[in-house]
Amino acid sequence: MLRLNLRDLRSGPVDVRGTLEPTDSVFLGLGLSFEKPVQVTGVMQETGDGAFLWRGQVHGTLTGECRRCLTGVKVDVNDDIDLLFSSDPELAADPSVYPLDADSDELDVAHAVREEVALRVSPFPLCRPDCKGLCAKCGADLNAGPCGCTGAGTTN
Ligand SMILES: [Zn+2]
Ligand SMILES: [Zn+2]
Repeated sequence: MLRLNLRDLRSGPVDVRGTLEPTDSVFLGLGLSFEKPVQVTGVMQETGDGAFLWRGQVHGTLTGECRRCLTGVKVDVNDDIDLLFSSDPELAADPSVYPLDADSDELDVAHAVREEVALRVSPFPLCRPDCKGLCAKCGADLNAGPCGCTGAGTTN
């Protein structure tokens, strides 16, 4: 479960871990497709001043298309993520702090994980850093070799 009761933290840090299915509503609207469930593991602790820090890792695999040649690509997501939650109104404008409902003891890490994954993942993956892409003229995959358009006698 990626949800916990903050009262449980009074006796010390708490493991907060879980799995988000690719179809989980938390990923809706991101335009990302995950190949398999996303593993989320971490530990939540109280930092004082009504703030809570979750330190963890996210593991998953995204599938998409190479931005240049449209080949299917898989992008591993293996990130260490720190999430700071606070109900302090003075921190509300700080983009690195996730707001906490002061009236609730419940905290759900999933939405913050969604935001962090979205920030870290390029919406335009490449199959490889030096992908040559497709010929703008004939559409040939230039990774497979030069196309006819680049033959002798042509200037472009
Ligand atoms: Zn490519
Ligand atoms: Zn061509």
